[in-house]
Amino acid sequence: MQPASERFLEKKVALVTGASRGIGRAIAVQLARRGATLALVATTSEGLEPAAKECQDLGAKVLRFGVDVTQAAAVADLVSQVTKELGGLDILVNNAGITRDQLLLRMSEDDFDRVIAVNLKGAFLFLKAAARPLMKSSGRIVNIASVVGLTGNAGQANYAASKAGLIGLTKSTAKELASRGVCVNAVAPGFIATDMTGQLDEKARTELLAATPLGRAGSPEDVALAVDFLVGPAGAWITGQVLVVDGGLSL
Ligand code: NAP
Repeated sequence: MQPASERFLEKKVALVTGASRGIGRAIAVQLARRGATLALVATTSEGLEPAAKECQDLGAKVLRFGVDVTQAAAVADLVSQVTKELGGLDILVNNAGITRDQLLLRMSEDDFDRVIAVNLKGAFLFLKAAARPLMKSSGRIVNIASVVGLTGNAGQANYAASKAGLIGLTKSTAKELASRGVCVNAVAPGFIATDMTGQLDEKARTELLAATPLGRAGSPEDVALAVDFLVGPAGAWITGQVLVVDGGLSL
C-alpha cells in the first residue's frame, strides 16, 4: 500500500470504462493504489472480476457493470447508480475502445459505424450522463484517444476518425465545463502491448517498433501513470490538452 501522502484519491470515486483488460485495467489498478473507490465498466460484469479483485486487494471498494457503452439508457442508469451507491463521482476515464481495421476501399459501413459508436459515441454518452455529478465535485475527465487521432493511419480510417473526434470532444467539453472547475484532457497512446495490438501481424508490430524512437512497446502502466498525473494534484490547472504517451512514435 502507498504511504498516506501518495493516496491522494482517498474518498474520491472514479469510473473507468473498458476496465477488464489492458490499459483500462492498469488505470483502474493505479487509481486503486491512490485510494480511489471504483466503478468499473466492460461488456460483461464477469469479465471484470480479475481487475476488480486486483483493485480490492489494494483496499479499494469496487462496483462492476457489464454495459455496452453505446447504449444511452444503460449508461445513464449506470452513472445514476454509481452516484447513489458511492455518494458522487469525481473522476471519469473514457477508455473503452475497439478496432476494426481495413483499407478504406474494403471498409464496410458496419465497421465504420461500430468503431465510431464505441470509441466516440460511448465517450459522449458517459460525458453527458456524468457531467452534472462531475460539475458538483469539480472533477476530472480523461479520454483515452490515440496518436492515430493526430497523425492518421492507413487501414484505420474509422479508428483514426473516432480518436480525432474524441480529441475534439475533449477540447469542447473542456471549454464547457471549465467554469465549474472540471478539467477535461485526452491521453494519446502510441503502440501499447495489449490484446488490441496482439491482433497485429508480425510485420506490422516490427514496423511499429522500428518507428518508436524509445525502442520498445509501451505498457498499459505507462498510460496509467499519465492518467494518474492528470487526475492528481499535478493536473489541477491543465485542461483541454492531449498528452501523447508514445515513446516518440508521432515525432
Ligand atoms: P483492449 O485490451 O482490447 O481492451 C478493450 C476494453 O474495452 C475491454 O475492457 C473491453 O471490454 C472494453 N470494451 C470494448 N467495447 C466495449 C463496449 N461496447 N462496451 C463496454 N466496454 C467495451 O484495448 P486496450 O489496448 O487496452 O485499449 C484501451 C483504449 O486505449 C482504447 O480506447 C484504445 O483505442 C486505446 N489505445 C490503445 C492503444 C494500444 O496500442 N493498445 C493505442 C492507442 C490507444 P471486454 O473485455 O468486456 O470486451
